Amino acid sequence: MKAAVIGSPISHSLSPFIFDFISEEQNYPIEYLSFEVTPSECKDFIYSKAHDDNFLGLNVTLPLKELSLEAIYYASKEVKSIGALNLLHFKEHKIYGYNTDIVGIMKTLEDKNFLVEGKNCLLLGAGGSAKAVAYVLGTLKALNVLIFNRSEKRDELVLQFSALFPHTIWSSTSKIEYEQTLKEPFDLMINTIPLGMTGKDSGVEFFNSLKVLKFNKEALAFDLIYTPEQTSFLNLADSLGLKTVGGLGMLIDQALATWKVWIGDLKNEKELHHKLKVFLNSILNSRLNHEPIYLTGFMGVGKSTVGFELAKLLKRKFVDVDKLIESRTFLTISEIFSEKGEAYFRSLEKEIILELSGVQDIVVALGGGALIDDISFKTISKSGVLIYLCALEDTLMERITNQEQSKYQERPIMAHLSLSEKKQKIKELLSLRKERYQKAKITIQTDDLNARNVAYEIVSFLCKIKSSEKRG
Ligand code: NDP
Repeated sequence: MKAAVIGSPISHSLSPFIFDFISEEQNYPIEYLSFEVTPSECKDFIYSKAHDDNFLGLNVTLPLKELSLEAIYYASKEVKSIGALNLLHFKEHKIYGYNTDIVGIMKTLEDKNFLVEGKNCLLLGAGGSAKAVAYVLGTLKALNVLIFNRSEKRDELVLQFSALFPHTIWSSTSKIEYEQTLKEPFDLMINTIPLGMTGKDSGVEFFNSLKVLKFNKEALAFDLIYTPEQTSFLNLADSLGLKTVGGLGMLIDQALATWKVWIGDLKNEKELHHKLKVFLNSILNSRLNHEPIYLTGFMGVGKSTVGFELAKLLKRKFVDVDKLIESRTFLTISEIFSEKGEAYFRSLEKEIILELSGVQDIVVALGGGALIDDISFKTISKSGVLIYLCALEDTLMERITNQEQSKYQERPIMAHLSLSEKKQKIKELLSLRKERYQKAKITIQTDDLNARNVAYEIVSFLCKIKSSEKRG
């Protein structure tokens, strides 16, 4: 079965990684895709997928959360109240709309043992996710909700939610000032303003303005923004001595809720939640690092396929040194070896490695013999993280044979050798190159893993290295 996330832009979405992870952990195969869909294409796109019997449904993100309502046959109570959805389920070509952000927000507050009833709350932002927050605060009977927003959308929210939840007192402000504080200090502050994610939009100045407000001793600060793990908002909340929680748990809970709507049951939910959190934190933290990542290892070990998966995971560019040499010389690697010799090939390889060492945010698949050259080895070790993908000799032999059969082309170093000679060659080359391979910062034994899982392992190691560097 298939499913997908739609929106625009969509390349930043973590949903494909989340659902691949859940699918593998639950041993329930689904193919999860992502589509760039603009508002003008939205309705037709949804209809076309609803009529594809292979599709379970769609996750919907900005800017389609409200627009997609026009396409649905059934809207849940929450969707009707808020006027926005993030999940579509297709059943017999009919389209059902849900909002699982609400589940994620409720679950986060529950996990923090925070009781909303009778509490004073500050909601920062008045966009789509602020509506889901307001719905939760109203449902859980907050006493007061003050909505801060720079545009007048704040007043629309006050009107909408006063009508839905009259027992809560709704008000709004465009300024954070001491006088704007409610008579009572705040118990809960929830941020939905997408600031604090990068250096440029750090939001420090804005969040510092919150210092004038008064909070109760047990007050909780909840940031829906989940990247980086420690946002500017959470830093500010820490400095005020508040309890804090980030948005990653919510992101996971809304995905798990999606799975339950599409598939039904979910095995070991608590454990899965924990594993997903570790996995996503590894991806997000690794994305904050920009130095080149080099993949080394014997020919056939899977440097290119792993490199491609890893680049997708870390939002980097993928460079295959052999392919780059081929495109620059208009010759295949075999032709370079036979017509110009190995020394010529190595000099081109060295030149390219030097060039790539100054480029940020790339994953580089090196040729199997690239580390033998001292200058290349030093350049790589100094400029980035070297990762060794290793496999047993039998696995290498099997992979090389499979690749040669599918590409109808022998590896230049293996050309014209019999099977037993090839085995012998692998042994010899491995013993020659092993010492350099083993200088890598990370070694991954790949025999029993597919390319995607090798990429996941790498990301988890990168994150561990970073945290031990921080500690040390
Ligand atoms: P919207 O675009 O609908 O709303 C954004 C809100 O932020 C608006 O109120 C906007 O104010 C305000 N805003 C934006 N930029 C600034 C700024 N520079 N200064 C002050 N206010 C600003 O987005 P959503 O509500 O859908 O999403 C907001 C964030 O929440 C996103 O980063 C998203 O990733 C995150 N999110 C996290 C989820 C999770 O699972 N953890 C789930 C859903 C969302 P104005 O009206 O004045 O433009």
